[in-house]
Amino acid sequence: MKKIIIAVDGYSSTGKSTTAKAVAKALGYVYIDTGAMYRGVTYLALEKGLVSTQGVEIKPLMKALRHSKFNFVYNPALGFSELYLDGKNIEDNIRSIDVANWVSEIAKQPEVRTFLVNLQRKMGEEKGVVMDGRDIGTVVFPEAELKIFMTASEEVRAQRRFKELQAKGEKVSFEEVLANIKHRDHVDTTRKESPLRKANDAITIDNTHLTIEEQVDKILSILKD
Ligand code: C5P
Repeated sequence: MKKIIIAVDGYSSTGKSTTAKAVAKALGYVYIDTGAMYRGVTYLALEKGLVSTQGVEIKPLMKALRHSKFNFVYNPALGFSELYLDGKNIEDNIRSIDVANWVSEIAKQPEVRTFLVNLQRKMGEEKGVVMDGRDIGTVVFPEAELKIFMTASEEVRAQRRFKELQAKGEKVSFEEVLANIKHRDHVDTTRKESPLRKANDAITIDNTHLTIEEQVDKILSILKD
């Protein structure tokens, strides 16, 4: 079968990455988590003290970015790729609540977006990719053959993310997670640069009452059709 690009966009904590990973596995495609890339830049900015309530110091951040090496390395034990910064696995670091609290601020910066969108387009050149994010179907690959837009109720999303963070031993309350999700949705949908919105030709999947298996099956059957 001809290889295509599958764009999976949607709100925070809708299970985009879990779903996209499973779809990629079923098709033998490469999975690319663009949220991890924005989180990686945020981790770098926090490490270097370049983001605070005063804003983002964009010039030094872009310089640091150009001198850093971000890459995904496939982990056969997990069955998906993990993000590395200058040879260090930063998967755990980028999933912290601290990074989650600052990432939308970093993702608002046009310079950061241009830099990452270029990287993402290169990664998709060969097709056969499932890419998840906020602007994949609208900006990165507007010509993607299949576009999925995922949504679910705020409470269900916060509950899922809260459980994940608790399992990792993060000291965080449900209210804090819910507030973070609401805040990210707000910043992501109202920002000037590539706001989160559904592409006209995207198919919406509301997974408030769906399991991961059900939504993966749904996408695979859309593909068959
Ligand atoms: O997908 P994830 O929740 O890990 O993404 C983290 C943040 O990165 C989002 O809240 C959003 O601000 C930003 N992001 C983005 N564009 C993408 C992917 C993520 O702005 N393509």
